[in-house]
Amino acid sequence: MYTDLQLFIDGKWLGGEGRKGEDVVNPATGKVLAHLPHASAADLDAALAAAEKGFKLWKATTAYDRSKIMRKAADLLRERADHVSKVLVQEQGKVYPEARGEVLTSADIIDWCAEEGRRSYGRLVPGRQNGVRQLVTQEPVGVVAAFTPWNFPTLTPVRKIAGALGAGCSIIIKASEETPGACVELVKCFADAGLPAGVLNLVFGVPSTVSEHLITADAVKKISFTGSIPVGKLLAGLAAKGMKKATMELGGHSPVVVFADADPEKAADTIAAFKYRNAGQVCISPTRFYVQEQNYNKFVARFTEYAKGIKLGDGLEKGITMGPLANARRLDAMESFVNDSKDRGGKILAGGSRHGNQGFFFQPTVITDVPDDSKIMTQEPFGPLAPIVPFKTFDEVVERANSLEYGLAAYAFTSSGATATAIGDAIQSGMVGINSVAISTPETPFGGIKESGYGSEGGIEGLQAYMNTKFISQA
Ligand code: NAD
Repeated sequence: MYTDLQLFIDGKWLGGEGRKGEDVVNPATGKVLAHLPHASAADLDAALAAAEKGFKLWKATTAYDRSKIMRKAADLLRERADHVSKVLVQEQGKVYPEARGEVLTSADIIDWCAEEGRRSYGRLVPGRQNGVRQLVTQEPVGVVAAFTPWNFPTLTPVRKIAGALGAGCSIIIKASEETPGACVELVKCFADAGLPAGVLNLVFGVPSTVSEHLITADAVKKISFTGSIPVGKLLAGLAAKGMKKATMELGGHSPVVVFADADPEKAADTIAAFKYRNAGQVCISPTRFYVQEQNYNKFVARFTEYAKGIKLGDGLEKGITMGPLANARRLDAMESFVNDSKDRGGKILAGGSRHGNQGFFFQPTVITDVPDDSKIMTQEPFGPLAPIVPFKTFDEVVERANSLEYGLAAYAFTSSGATATAIGDAIQSGMVGINSVAISTPETPFGGIKESGYGSEGGIEGLQAYMNTKFISQA
């Protein structure tokens, strides 16, 4: 029911065969699912050579033909969505409907990038003298090295793979060693759709060793990373040494602002469902909740009721609404956030501890009365914890919302058009959802500012990230 874990280099699937490796664990049970082979240094060199060859071939393929292969891969992914989703749930823990939604959205992203690649228009700029043609064109940057985490095992890889392929680049992707199976299945769709050998390569290994090997290689011209801020800074530094383009999609600490003129119960239902999605292990997860005093009690009551109604369990079982955390590290982290909150005077209105004694389950948690400088209000929890605090005025909440070095996502609820415009403008964030949590779609740019990173994935920006602009002046 799980999958055979292999590397994919130069169009060939490579298994253990004497390679080092590691076990992949089901976070709902703590049991080993399969063994994952690690790429050796020779494998990484082979992937680099394959990607260089693949780039020449793919760049020479017309955007129309590239798009046909990509769309076939998207169709295969849709056909196989049930199996891929089950693989994803077993290794990552989210509930099946969420996994299926992730896989189907991944297929939509491939379609979008396939089509957008056919529209990578340049422009003609009028010359200063007659007879001069000034052309601005877009060219694929070359070989891409991409690194993705464990929270969205197909969605994060697909943003990078489809963006790169749509732009005409080849790519080596190191997906998460903790959730490799769904990405193996994703890559199979491209291979089975007829993608030429070398255009897409999948490797696993010790993250720091693989990333250093690939980023410092001359062949690699662009880096794309999704993960934590400390690792992002490390990889951005390596990219800068080689003057290589980089996209950094890093952590967040998204503020949610609920104004007095919003419906507190409607807002609580919408944002609580979004908070506990993937057990809160989402970079754009709503993280700090500021509620204007008049709405505070009603919002807290409804939010807490929602949290208490969540059914924890194995994501493959029917009726389960939240799965386990993805690994034991997150459990320790949750305990540390909750303990700090309690030490700082916080009240736990729901949850607050581990659930059961197998797997990595943590209860959906609601915390109130925590000071703004507590750990939960300043560091990314990446888990099912929701601190809720009151505020008085617009200016005060803007200052508090903008006070951290994160700038990925933010949310606000209001029934006033003027307040919606004002908060949208005032929040320092790459994405803002106002009376909406729909801030991540294939067609729209996704990315952060401040320490949450730079560059965008998705939308037309998602392909431009893999292009160089060239100017040709022709007399
Ligand atoms: P971590 O910092 O150890 O790893 C984050 C990701 O980066 C993992 O997928 C890991 O394999 C990879 N990684 C680590 N070192 C690397 C290196 N030198 N080169 C290349 N890749 C490397 O943290 P973690 O325990 O896995 O996750 C905890 C934190 O990571 C969370 O609190 C959250 O801030 C962040 N995170 C963010 C996202 C996101 O979508 N932005 C996703 C997952 C984790």
